[in-house]
Amino acid sequence: MSASSFTITNIELCPLDLPITDPFVVATGQLQVAQNAFVRLTLHDGTIGYGEIAPFPAITGEDRESSLKKARTLGQHLLEQSTLHYQRLGGELSELAPDAPAARCGLETALLDALTRAIHVPLWALWGGADVRARETDVTIPIASLERSRELARYWYERGFRRFKLKVGHDVDDDIRRVEALHRDCTGVAFVIDANQGYTYEGAATLIKSVNRFGGNILLLEQPLAKDDLEGHAKLRRDFHVPVAADESAQSLRDLQAVIRQEAADYVNIKITKSGLLEGIVMITVAKAAGLGVMLGGMVETRVAMGCSYSLAMGLGGCPVLDLDTPLLLKTDPIEGGYTYKGPQLQPWHGPGLDLDIPSFQAATSARL
Ligand SMILES: [Mg+2]
Repeated sequence: MSASSFTITNIELCPLDLPITDPFVVATGQLQVAQNAFVRLTLHDGTIGYGEIAPFPAITGEDRESSLKKARTLGQHLLEQSTLHYQRLGGELSELAPDAPAARCGLETALLDALTRAIHVPLWALWGGADVRARETDVTIPIASLERSRELARYWYERGFRRFKLKVGHDVDDDIRRVEALHRDCTGVAFVIDANQGYTYEGAATLIKSVNRFGGNILLLEQPLAKDDLEGHAKLRRDFHVPVAADESAQSLRDLQAVIRQEAADYVNIKITKSGLLEGIVMITVAKAAGLGVMLGGMVETRVAMGCSYSLAMGLGGCPVLDLDTPLLLKTDPIEGGYTYKGPQLQPWHGPGLDLDIPSFQAATSARL
């Protein structure tokens, strides 16, 4: 294998609509169809790699159209470059498109999938394979009526799920009723309560006190307040000793450093689609060094982007909370191979790269050399 084998010779993009079983309603907006896109990157020796662009307009402000435009520009930058220089290339993409993390993530994932396929190792091996095992994920219950929330909770509970990521933030009294009902219906569950910035300090305080009163188990309270309100998050931690996770407050490395300085979180939710893949890896290192817990999450993604995040958990180790459930919320699964689910457990794979294929991939645009 010569060094030129690793040269990128083609990058293709394929938009794909992914209908979601229940509307994915969060405090800031909703999705019924995830408008994602796949990336297929080809090396000089014919090896291919896949990535996924999964923008969530209501959370990061990116949409598919703007992401594809950026991906085309950034793709031109990657052509003729060697995947062996992925670290440098990731830095260059961050500099060229700081505001397009979803596009960067798709290209970076495809680049590393191709590289690890070319050297015949699983993607997680690139990061050391520190913790290769089946891992439990939570499951998301979107903002919905009390009855629908209970139906969804029972459905997942019967399938073995014991961690509910409950979306809240529209109405704190409704939210408390939902948490209490699920706590009583489903013995032994723990909650990641995600308000997507929907609460005031008083609203969050009311929720915490109420849940404590009926004995609900709050594993994490995620992004209760506005993303810039770091002092409010720090105060909630001090006043209630509830573990707070930063999500929207920590979209980039720079954001994370501010969260750490202000002691605004116990955990950080790292999403490769939110920060880009390589910047996300730096964020994991920095978070761990600062004593923060790492949660790995995602936008509404298939097993391509989530397989990459699971690779980080297995490769780097030390990522105690996984929120890698969205493939289970889609009506269809366009992926063949890759990791699988057994109830709430993600099952590792041992083939090269992400070890998956996308049979329906139809290139809409191509940047061949
Ligand atoms: Mg969140």
